[in-house]
Amino acid sequence: MVDLRPGEAVVKEGNVVRQNPQGPRPGVLTLTNHRLIFEVHLPQGPGGPVVRRTIDAPLGRIQNVAALDGSRLQVQLPMQVGVFESPEAAEWVRVITEARSHAPPGGGMPGGPRGPGGPGGPGAAGRPGGLFGQYGPRGQGGPGPGRGPGAAPPPPRPCAYCGRMNEPAATKCAGCSAPLPAG
Ligand SMILES: [Zn+2]
Repeated sequence: MVDLRPGEAVVKEGNVVRQNPQGPRPGVLTLTNHRLIFEVHLPQGPGGPVVRRTIDAPLGRIQNVAALDGSRLQVQLPMQVGVFESPEAAEWVRVITEARSHAPPGGGMPGGPRGPGGPGGPGAAGRPGGLFGQYGPRGQGGPGPGRGPGAAPPPPRPCAYCGRMNEPAATKCAGCSAPLPAG
């Protein structure tokens, strides 16, 4: 069973047999919207059944995925290449390719593409939220409140001596002629 992170969901999971130089390794291949995970499930071990995770790769680290033929899936990662026997090899290629196309740019790779112009950046109008929620359109923030034309006028100015409210632009009190403080 795979420990999912917040916002992560299993896309496809299936029993496969990994072709290792040491021999076949039966296990479970799990594709989420974030990662590709392979766990070896060996029925026998010194302490009972053995589950060992040998692949846990962010989708952005998958360099290539291909169906070698109808029953073999090849996944190329920076440090290893996995070949899995599965009658669903073509389907795996399809769902992994689809998930990669939705993965956030960079995928944890240093130096990955980022910044304006990337998928979901400013100008990608109409893209729904979901995976790209953090990049989604934020609204253009129109002419917000400010001091420009049309903004609320400054408040009237009370006279410090007689208390009369004077016009904002007045320099002297209209009631007692006392000078009003500037500003
Ligand atoms: Zn006054």
